[in-house]
Amino acid sequence: MPRGHRTTSRSILTVLLLGLFAGTASAEPPKQIIFPVIGPVQYTNDFGAPRSGHSHRGNDLMAARKAPVVAVEAGRVDRPSWSSSDCSLILTGRSGTEYWYLHMNNDLTQRDDNRGGCRNGVSFAPDLESGMRVRAGQLIGYVGNSGNAAGGSPHLHFELHPESSGAVSPYKWLRAAPRLLYAAPGSARRVRLALYGNVKEIGTSFGVGVGRIAVSSGWRGIPTITRVSLAYAPGFVVERQTESGAFALAQLTSARAGERVSVWTTWFAPTLATQMAGANVLAASKFRLRGL
Ligand SMILES: [Zn+2]
Repeated sequence: MPRGHRTTSRSILTVLLLGLFAGTASAEPPKQIIFPVIGPVQYTNDFGAPRSGHSHRGNDLMAARKAPVVAVEAGRVDRPSWSSSDCSLILTGRSGTEYWYLHMNNDLTQRDDNRGGCRNGVSFAPDLESGMRVRAGQLIGYVGNSGNAAGGSPHLHFELHPESSGAVSPYKWLRAAPRLLYAAPGSARRVRLALYGNVKEIGTSFGVGVGRIAVSSGWRGIPTITRVSLAYAPGFVVERQTESGAFALAQLTSARAGERVSVWTTWFAPTLATQMAGANVLAASKFRLRGL
């Protein structure tokens, strides 16, 4: 893995950490926030676009139904009193900036059934309590189309309100926001990731091109970080799929660039650094090679 990637991840993390401290003393929004949705997202700067009777006060982040939604900075998360059919959350960041998350999921299936209500495990993180403290990158809910977005494509309506003022376009913050590999569950002390993709590099670290990911705390999906370089955990295990379909112990030196591979990380405490997945931050404990 080029050193550049690692350096970039570290500098982003530094900016984020500095932002937390700088934010406590000033009313300005932080220079950098975390991107609020995990997985593929499409959006434009639709702030101010005409809507019936008003102009649009945020950006619409089009994403898969039930895609994880995370806190963009550390702070306190509340369920606003005006929110009933529209499953909404307001995050008050340590910087004093408010972030509004609207139209979160209210469907029980992958269809637009509107049968879930605005509940934990459906709209919001399983452990969410109004008024609770959250870390940057912590899971708070899921993308949907509740309230007046019913019938439309699932999306997160995201607003950014600097302290003591109305909404401004969040676009420049979103454009600069680092994407995370997974959402950190608030309740799980340790998580493990399964990365499914193909072999990119076998060297001092193991590079994998990631097509799909599964997180032990529940989510499976398509990640936005599509290349991860892992360290080797002590005692890591390598298996290769045989012609019968069963897996047999193998040597990592038998791996070929481009072949299909599933990689399991060790169990680890979810932190922002592991969510950003810089080079050698995650460690691989099991490989399953599946051939070209
Ligand atoms: Zn919107």
